[in-house]
Amino acid sequence: MTLVEYRRKRDFSKTPEPRGKIEKPHEKRSFVIQKHAARKLHYDFRLEVDGVLTSWAIPKGPSLDPQVRRLAVQVEDHPLSYLHFEGTIPEGAYGSGEVIVWDTGTYEISGGEKTMRKGLAEGRLTFVLRGKKVHGTYSLVRFQGKRQWLLRKRNDKYARPGEDLTRYDRSVISSRRLPDGLALTD
Ligand code: MN
Repeated sequence: MTLVEYRRKRDFSKTPEPRGKIEKPHEKRSFVIQKHAARKLHYDFRLEVDGVLTSWAIPKGPSLDPQVRRLAVQVEDHPLSYLHFEGTIPEGAYGSGEVIVWDTGTYEISGGEKTMRKGLAEGRLTFVLRGKKVHGTYSLVRFQGKRQWLLRKRNDKYARPGEDLTRYDRSVISSRRLPDGLALTD
């Protein structure tokens, strides 16, 4: 776990993102899904592991439909303080565009940190998310190279075939919506 790549990509005199540090793990492990209107709109899914946020960019966002597999491209670890980051990354800075906290909460993985590390190394993770929008068991499976994973909802009582979760487009901490958000209300 390292923040070297995260820091190398950013100029903290230009971006409002936190410089961060590797922190003591929280008692309950957190997750966040940020909606990020960068050059291409995407969702950033981050799971707390060993005091940082292991991160994936998910172009289409998570689904509650077990039939749907969503591409998740692993990106650099982010600092834990990124859990609460919402704001505008200015033009010319890495990842420029608006960011909102689309969902956040805690997650569980049986076996804890040890299973998490092993799963990251082996490319297979199963965990339970407890967010405001996203609930229940998900799996992430690496299918290609070092960074290409697929996120899928597992069958449980929270599964909703056909449901498009991304229509709920507001921030769960500020109710803000990105300028290009859909006209649907939640
Ligand atoms: Mn992003």
